[in-house]
Amino acid sequence: MLAQELVLKQRAEILHSLCSSGSTEHLERVLDILLAQGELIWEEYQNIQVQGRALYTNVRQLLDLVCMKGEDTCDFFLAAIKEVLPEAQRAGISFLGCCSNLEKREESQSTLTQTLLTQRPSLVSKLQGCIDGALDALVESGHFASADCDDVLLPIHTPSQQARRLLDHVRSKGESAAKVVLHYIQESGSSLNQEKWTPPKEFSKYQKKLSSSVSAQSCFLSNYGGTSHMPLDEIYTEGQLELAHDCTDLSGALDLEDIVGMVGTVNKEADTVLVSGEAGSGKSTLLQRLHLLWAQGVALKEFLLLFPFSCRRLNSEQKELSVQELLFQHCCWPDKEQEEIFQFILDQPHLILFSFDGLDELKQGFSDECRVCCPTLRAPVHILLFNLLQGSLMKGVRKVVTSRPEAVGPLLKKHLRKEVLLKGFSPTGIDYFVKKHHSDPTVATKVLESLQTNTALLGLCHSPVLCWIVSECHKELLGCGEGSPQTITDLYFMILQHFLQHQSPTKSTMGLHWLQEHIKAVLHLGQLAFEGIGTSCYIFTDTDLETCYVTEKDICIGFLILSKDMSSNHSKRYEFLHVTVQCFFAALYIVLSSNINRSTIHKLFELEDMRETGLSSTCLLACLTSIDQQEQSLEGESIAAETPNLQITATFVSGLLSQRYQDLWLHCCPSAMIEKKVRQVVKCLSKGMHKHFKSIPQPVEGEKKSMHAMPGFIWLIKCIYEMQQSKIAKDAMSKLEVDHLKLTYCNIGPVECTALAFVLQHLRNPVGLQLDNNSVGDVGVEQLLPCMHICNSLYLRNNNVTDEGIHKLIAKGIQCENFQKIALFNNKLTDACTQHFSLLLKTKQNFLALRLGNNNITAEGAKQLAEGLKFNHSLQYLGLWGNKIGDAGAEALASALEGSKTLVWLSLVGNGVGSAGACALAKMIKNSTSLEELWLTENCITRSGVEGLIQALEHNTHVKSVWLKKNELSLEEIEEMTQRESRLMF
Ligand code: ADP
Repeated sequence: MLAQELVLKQRAEILHSLCSSGSTEHLERVLDILLAQGELIWEEYQNIQVQGRALYTNVRQLLDLVCMKGEDTCDFFLAAIKEVLPEAQRAGISFLGCCSNLEKREESQSTLTQTLLTQRPSLVSKLQGCIDGALDALVESGHFASADCDDVLLPIHTPSQQARRLLDHVRSKGESAAKVVLHYIQESGSSLNQEKWTPPKEFSKYQKKLSSSVSAQSCFLSNYGGTSHMPLDEIYTEGQLELAHDCTDLSGALDLEDIVGMVGTVNKEADTVLVSGEAGSGKSTLLQRLHLLWAQGVALKEFLLLFPFSCRRLNSEQKELSVQELLFQHCCWPDKEQEEIFQFILDQPHLILFSFDGLDELKQGFSDECRVCCPTLRAPVHILLFNLLQGSLMKGVRKVVTSRPEAVGPLLKKHLRKEVLLKGFSPTGIDYFVKKHHSDPTVATKVLESLQTNTALLGLCHSPVLCWIVSECHKELLGCGEGSPQTITDLYFMILQHFLQHQSPTKSTMGLHWLQEHIKAVLHLGQLAFEGIGTSCYIFTDTDLETCYVTEKDICIGFLILSKDMSSNHSKRYEFLHVTVQCFFAALYIVLSSNINRSTIHKLFELEDMRETGLSSTCLLACLTSIDQQEQSLEGESIAAETPNLQITATFVSGLLSQRYQDLWLHCCPSAMIEKKVRQVVKCLSKGMHKHFKSIPQPVEGEKKSMHAMPGFIWLIKCIYEMQQSKIAKDAMSKLEVDHLKLTYCNIGPVECTALAFVLQHLRNPVGLQLDNNSVGDVGVEQLLPCMHICNSLYLRNNNVTDEGIHKLIAKGIQCENFQKIALFNNKLTDACTQHFSLLLKTKQNFLALRLGNNNITAEGAKQLAEGLKFNHSLQYLGLWGNKIGDAGAEALASALEGSKTLVWLSLVGNGVGSAGACALAKMIKNSTSLEELWLTENCITRSGVEGLIQALEHNTHVKSVWLKKNELSLEEIEEMTQRESRLMF
């Protein structure tokens, strides 16, 4: 298709994509390009870019002009759009056949003022960082007066608008002003380039030494050490990365390099990027991957040196160090010219990258009270680390730090450049990982098939560490038939059995006695883990091992591995395969040992109380550890960081004390002891839940009783799920009386959904379940189905749900009498899901509210919905804000809703609806006896559409307001129409 035809045919889409953000920046950049290419002359530019006029009108004007100018201009116009718009925003536009290339035009003998035009896009971008300097130069040379400067610097302008304004002023002042500004830009550009450095002679040797050491540390995955040798390159699977903040400059998914890149930056002054995720979500592995790619020269090439640190290992640094000592002693020692190399690092901070793995494992919580600014001054290592993260030390060096979310408070957040969330594997990631893990494709297929039949297990596999266990234990998994694992405890139990079987492969370990044979080893490892958890200790010396009677043979089982260390200290140290494995062994010890203090279980489950009352973790340590160890640990500082490990341990304790393991324990310890511990845990869970219920405020009269989940609620729910006893869930839920359960921003993924459904299905009365802003996804949606019958409303805003999840959800929802409302704002829905909603609307004549805002529904989807609406007699709220239904979609909906006697509220905000759509809606309004509010903000309705609405309103007294802000109307038109009809809101 020719470019002109493409522009004409896609007029609405182009209009929408250039205007939908509400900012004029995209239009202005397109105009810059067209000016530079000579496709627009200055006067034309001024006619289009009229300040104060609606953005839609300006874009329309441009569309008219380029179409009038013909094929070539249209071709450049499309190329400019392609260049300027982020991929997601131009997804609906076809550029087929558009072939203009936007390289700089050859300049023949041009004047300097012409150069200002031909190089406009690059000048705008260069000027943004140095407007003040350029203005000074222009004032000094007498070309600008202070009024000119004020005009450029008006605070309503963005930096790029200030740059354009400056260029426009300079053009009007003539050649010599143009010369000054071009000279200034060139000088400041070359002064940047001149910052060339000469590294010390020994530098490249040091760089090689560091990179080979980083490569050696990162090329294998450590938890495969015991059983196989797995190169990271082979098994690495992309995890799901998301920005913690909303971001408009992101198109598509984040990749590894985006972690250190510009995208999503919220604080340009800060150097530290935080990658946060739950235990086992793959944070260490992700850093390991970044390290390896850097060492291989494949990624992060802009950094000449990368210094990786593990907070776990920094814990054991007792000495005070300077930054120089920290770098060289903990990462890599330069053989010569230490001072010169360090000076180079200080001089070129932007070429250096530091990474800190596991901030949550640092014994001290982050604080910014103690300032150290001098890199040669010695200080305790945690103080150095905090100052590095804040940027008071080594400003300009980029730092990436990983942590579990709980350990990062507002104090650190204010020093962050950005926060990236690591959310484990996607469903395709699970598939990829399992296939990579098994060289035999038939085994991989069997494992994947078994996951499809056990979706609770599939949900668990979103966590990489659990996916690893499932793959590692495939024999146990495929052999267990009916009793396939359901809970996290089941999985860790499986890996326990798996490793012990490896230990003595000749003996039969399938009966109930297999644990009994190894009970001593389990208790030794358990004690080590338990005492470590109590003191936030994750690395163990030979002496620690001896104290807990851990033998060489116990080590050989494979749960303890040699700790990797970049420092020169070569004494042997051990750590558990993963922190969650340590928690599991600690839980085994709590369950199986008779040396456990009586109050340990209570203390473990009453963590929150301790936090609330400000009691330090030493209270718990008194029960968990010996006195010497307590003294070593720093009082009170680490509760926030260590709580997650104690919570994981408590979750395992619940699981291990569930009915299904009791027969096994019979052979290992007195049954009376186990029964007593079971009673204790059940009581703690019930008490914990009760405390949450007690905190529910009494509703204001006329409002619903609502419970907003406090931290710890989901954890209790997960503990109950681990016990797998419906009675406990039933007892807990019998005491909960609310109308609305709010679980927003609670980090709920598929695993949590399984637990929630297990417990909530026993609620006595139906509730509104609000799960907005979590990571439920399609697998999570499927997990929720068992509790759908008690949901009268389901809120799943921003949860990565796709059409597939909707298919299952609606199939179940249709059968649930109570189910009346659903909100799915900001998911990944397309037209493919609308047939299911259509069926729902046709079938359920008590359905009240359908909100599908900010998805990808087009006119086709709207037509499908309309099919259902025709037969529905109950719907009151229909929200389609931020889709792409256009005129055709609006017409279909309007005609289907014409006879509705129930619809009260309809939103078609931001849908590219024009006057044709508005006229169809007017017809609906005319006959409606129920509609009260119609939202048509941010569309492209012109005068003729509004005329239609006004006429319709003359026949309707029921409608309270029709919202028409940000449409294509002039100020005069708005004024006139407001006078004629006061219910129109502009
Ligand atoms: P975290 O640091 O978040 O606790 P880890 O990075 O230690 O999690 O991951 C735990 C285990 O999960 C790893 O040892 C590895 O077996 C597996 N794993 C995690 N992320 C990945 C990944 N991206 N690709 C392959 N395996 C992974």
